[in-house]
Amino acid sequence: MRPKVFIPEYMADVGMAMLKSSCDCIIPWEKGKPVMNITDPAHPIRQRLYEADAVIVRVFTITGKDLARPNRLKVIVKHGVGLDNIDLPAATAHGIPVAYTPTGNTNAVAEHTMALMLSLIRRIKPAGRALLEGRFNERNDYCGDELDGKILGLIGLGRIGSLVAKKAAYGFDMRVIAYDPYVSSDAYDGPAQLVATLEELLVISDFVSLHVDLNDETRHILDARALNKVKPTCRIINTSRGAAIDQTALMAALQSDRLGGAALDVFEDEPLPAHHPITELPHVVLTPHIAGLTTTSMERTAQASAQAVLDALVGKTPEYVVNGVPVC
Ligand code: NAD
Repeated sequence: MRPKVFIPEYMADVGMAMLKSSCDCIIPWEKGKPVMNITDPAHPIRQRLYEADAVIVRVFTITGKDLARPNRLKVIVKHGVGLDNIDLPAATAHGIPVAYTPTGNTNAVAEHTMALMLSLIRRIKPAGRALLEGRFNERNDYCGDELDGKILGLIGLGRIGSLVAKKAAYGFDMRVIAYDPYVSSDAYDGPAQLVATLEELLVISDFVSLHVDLNDETRHILDARALNKVKPTCRIINTSRGAAIDQTALMAALQSDRLGGAALDVFEDEPLPAHHPITELPHVVLTPHIAGLTTTSMERTAQASAQAVLDALVGKTPEYVVNGVPVC
């Protein structure tokens, strides 16, 4: 009998095709709207979870109650990162491996980081506005600068940070330095020069870009004290998590011209309200948490999710299992 895979939310065709060749896919959204989050355990679509051998979820919740019911699940796969919609302790207690796909959008975020840096330094937003407002001839007011030769300070040198380092150094001839106390210079093989303290990075960088995961150490890693150390021309980029920057302190620094600008894809409170004061500031570029969202990243994530299911169904442990439960 072919195994059944429950896919309650949209997934790119390339991943679906991988699964359909050897599995029966339960796809409630194919003929209608995507199913977002059916919390009622009696909902007819949610019932399909209990007949599946594997499930791929985006925001669909998998609760302890779901897992306490008779089910056939051999693996739960998170399409993306952020596992808060899955009851991990319950999955572990029931011996179900939980896999995720952290690399699908790495390149998308790294490219978006470069786009934000370029947007700031070339003054794309105010120049575009001038054109739209019929002020074409003011173009000399929008003379920007170049990334070539500038110092980029990366806070966090993991998957995304190290890819940004390569793009900035090899693609744009920037000098890249990085602060990440969990990466040793012996183990790191890339163009960034590791610095021992955050302060060393802050005082010399022309751009500071955040690529940390959010934890007790990185929450407000850029606070008022840290922001006071950067050069007044320094531009801050955040595509990691909003709370890595103290947004109030950032606003204050921007409002008092103690910073050259900021580009943010993530915010302490999301969604950012339409008329939030930060939207009014000059030298600020904002995007609505889309750094990781591209057609290609959705396809890569779908492929990785499908591969994790296929691996688990033949008894192989998927590449990224978060709860350490072996596949049986
Ligand atoms: P990763 O786990 O590979 O890298 C995180 C790095 O931060 C690690 O190298 C870690 O050592 C480092 N770090 C931890 N604590 C630190 C500290 N105190 N000081 C300096 N460095 C520290 O993660 P990743 O895949 O590179 O993702 C980076 C961030 O990007 C995460 O916050 C992730 O949630 C975010 N992200 C955002 C989007 C988006 O759409 N904006 C998409 C994907 C990922």
